[in-house]
Amino acid sequence: MVSILKMNFEEKRKRLVESLKDRGILTEQDVINAMLVVPRHKFVPLDAESSAYIDSPLSIGLGQTISAPHMNAMMCEYLKLREGDKVLEIGTGSGYHAALCAEMVAPKKSENPGHVYTIERHEGLVENARRSLKETGYEDRVTVIHGDGTLGYPKEAPYDKILVTAASPSKIPIPLRTQLKEGGILCIPAGSKNFGQNLYIIKKKGNDFKTKRITGVRFVPLIGKYGFES
Ligand code: SAH
Repeated sequence: MVSILKMNFEEKRKRLVESLKDRGILTEQDVINAMLVVPRHKFVPLDAESSAYIDSPLSIGLGQTISAPHMNAMMCEYLKLREGDKVLEIGTGSGYHAALCAEMVAPKKSENPGHVYTIERHEGLVENARRSLKETGYEDRVTVIHGDGTLGYPKEAPYDKILVTAASPSKIPIPLRTQLKEGGILCIPAGSKNFGQNLYIIKKKGNDFKTKRITGVRFVPLIGKYGFES
C-alpha cells in the first residue's frame, strides 16, 4: 500500500472520490467525473495545499472557508446539473464549486455549453477565484461577479439551477426565487446565522415552490440586503 504522504495530488483526489463513493455520498457519474477532474489543491491557499484532499472545510482568508468535499458533492448531486444548464452560484469563495459546476454544465468540446455565473461580496476573494479559474482553464465557462448575491444576477436570469453556498435567513431571498426558471432547482442552506441551519432543495413548479429539507449543515452566513446584517 502506498503511504498517503507519498501520493501525488491526482492519487489523493482519486482516493477522496473513492471514499465519498463508499460512503454513498457520490453516486452520479457526472459528479464523480467532475470531482476527479477539478484540482481542488489549486483553489486553496498554498499552505493548505497538502490538506486539499482531506474531506474537510479549509480557510481561504477573510474569515471564509471552502466547503468540505462531501458538501460540494452532495449539493452537485441534488442540483441535477446537466450539460447546457445556466447556473447561478451565490458565494464564489475559492471558485472551486463553480469549477465543479462548469465541468458538468459546460464540459470541454460541448456543442451545447452552459455557463456558471458566480457572485462574491469580498473583492479579495473575487480576485483569487478569477486567478484560480484561469489557471485551471475554467475562465471561459465561469463569470465571477463582485457584488451582493442576495439580489441575484437579473442580467442573465432566469437560471436552470441556483446554488447558494452561504447560510441564508429562514426567509429565502425573494430575488433568488424569482430568477429561478420554471422547473428549476435551488439548493440553499438556511436557518440562523451561526448554528441550526438546514440544507434545502427548492423546486419551482408554476407559481409554487416545493421545498425539501435534506440535512443539518453549518455554513458561513449570507450577508446582504436579503441576507443577514454584517
Ligand atoms: N462555494 C465556495 C464556498 C465559499 S464560502 C467555494 O467553493 O469555495 C461562502 C462565500 O459566500 C464566502 O466567500 C462569503 O464571502 C460569500 N458571501 C456571503 N454573503 C454573500 C453575498 N450576499 N453575496 C456574495 N457572496 C457572499
